[in-house]
Amino acid sequence: MKVGFIGLGNMGNPMAGNLIKAGHQLTVHDLRREAATNLLELGAEWADTPAACVPGHDVVLTSLPVPRDVEAVVLGENGILEGASPGSVYMDLSTNSPTAIRRLHDVCAEQGVIVLDAPVSGGVYGAAAATLAVMVGGDEAVFDRMKPTLDAIGSHVVYCGPIGNGMVCKICNNMLSMGIGVLLTEALTLGVKAGVDLAVLADVIANSSGGNRRIVEKFPRYLFKGNFEPGFATALAAKDVRLGTDLGREYGVPMDLANLVDQRHVEAMHRGWGPEDSDAVSKLQEEKAGVQLRLPEG
Ligand code: NAD
Repeated sequence: MKVGFIGLGNMGNPMAGNLIKAGHQLTVHDLRREAATNLLELGAEWADTPAACVPGHDVVLTSLPVPRDVEAVVLGENGILEGASPGSVYMDLSTNSPTAIRRLHDVCAEQGVIVLDAPVSGGVYGAAAATLAVMVGGDEAVFDRMKPTLDAIGSHVVYCGPIGNGMVCKICNNMLSMGIGVLLTEALTLGVKAGVDLAVLADVIANSSGGNRRIVEKFPRYLFKGNFEPGFATALAAKDVRLGTDLGREYGVPMDLANLVDQRHVEAMHRGWGPEDSDAVSKLQEEKAGVQLRLPEG
């Protein structure tokens, strides 16, 4: 397939690389041309604008930071819609607002352009290994056509229902993931301060009823190493939790705990940790408890 790919950051770059390795012909664009260097070496073509990624391509994908970036790339000057024609297919891999993607879907539909949402989960390691979960919303027949392409980036590609439903699934997941991060940090600082070795405590929790992927995969790669290079930036985690609490307000669903998690992310942002990996949020609890959760290398 001929694939346009816009947004070549921590997630977009390895996903685009895997599409090339699967035999697809890519045209790529990013605000930062240097983000495409390795992909151009693999045979991708560079486009100067999002619009130029669309004509003659079977599908265009975006992996962009926040909803306003997606809106600008689709509807803005030299955007995807400008380059599109009836029947063009566009899929958003970013974690975006369900309401925003439903609105984009409707605007694009007026010109016969098909929009699907396809947010991903599994982090930069999952993106590199092509083992992402991909949650797709939109026209099911188009999903069926696109699934083999998505299989090149993920090992669990799921149809979630009409447009926006992929984003709803992703937001529910991330709200939970960030909430677990906050609660897990409380538990670990408590256990260590009460006398248990961190490695022992982490091993026990990982293999007990409180176990989760944060303690098995994320904390060992980031927090426990004191490694706050993103990964998944705190600013993006804060965006995702806010997408969740906003969706709760929109649908009248009480979200008591998620709003506490949201405030913890606001505090981390005020500390200037937005560009650091999202495990930086744990530093707030570490400070308050007077305990650092670090494990020796090895
Ligand atoms: P990132 O900041 O590393 O990459 C975003 C890329 O988009 C950058 O290269 C940036 O230059 C480019 N960009 C921004 N605005 C643009 C524009 N107007 N036109 C063209 N390019 C533009 O972010 P990321 O971590 O790769 O995340 C991308 C999306 O995937 C986000 O929505 C994020 O929430 C989601 N996500 C991230 C992870 C993760 O672990 N990092 C996991 C799952 C989902």
